[in-house]
Amino acid sequence: MTDSTVRIGLVLPDILGTYSDSGNATVLRQRLRWRDVPATVLEIGYDEPVPASLDLYLLGGGEDEAQTLAASRLRANPGIQRAAARGAVVFAVCAGLQLLGTEFRTFAGVRHEGLGLLDLTTAPGKRRAVGEIVVRAGAGLGAEPLTGFENHLGVTTIGPGSRPLGEVLSGTGNGDGTDGAVTGRVLATYLHGPVLARNPMLADLLLGWVLGAPPPALPLPEVSALRRERLHAAKRRHR
Ligand code: GLN
Repeated sequence: MTDSTVRIGLVLPDILGTYSDSGNATVLRQRLRWRDVPATVLEIGYDEPVPASLDLYLLGGGEDEAQTLAASRLRANPGIQRAAARGAVVFAVCAGLQLLGTEFRTFAGVRHEGLGLLDLTTAPGKRRAVGEIVVRAGAGLGAEPLTGFENHLGVTTIGPGSRPLGEVLSGTGNGDGTDGAVTGRVLATYLHGPVLARNPMLADLLLGWVLGAPPPALPLPEVSALRRERLHAAKRRHR
């Protein structure tokens, strides 16, 4: 491993990672390797310490119980919070989004403190949001629509310290017409997929933050085919 190796932390894949969110780590590592940038993925299990020295941290989805466990574990082992304070990139999906906020309330009505890396709170909604979702990213966060799959009960309200990732074109997202949240280099979304396999431009946005400059484009027709198929599926459902 050289000094230029990008270190990706896959956080609590043993309890967070519904719908193959762990695939986001594989996508990032491979997109770095295709550009001849060495990269490693460190899986940080529930019983392991959370190092503060990594370049990028990934959190996936999970049901309320797993999310609550993860939040208390990560509050007690603040490696991600320390890394984020020195500019490391954090990317989170669904339960990961909710636990990065200041607080979340579970279906059972219990209030839990989050890590406070995003200015948002989450409470249970009236209906579970399930299905395809398409999002137009906000300024500076990418020009192409983002496609994903969502399955959550939580409704998220963003405060002034964060901005949404984008506007929902179809689906639910945060519940107010927006999806996700961004503060500095901490970015979260409700999109599963794994979302970075469906949206390589989002993977490259994160890698650009890690590397300090946008990485050179890669011609990847097989990824484009997946995107096209999923965007088409979302349109068909909402016609
Ligand atoms: N427990 C959360 C909810 O239902 C997150 C679900 C998920 O990560 N898919 O709102």
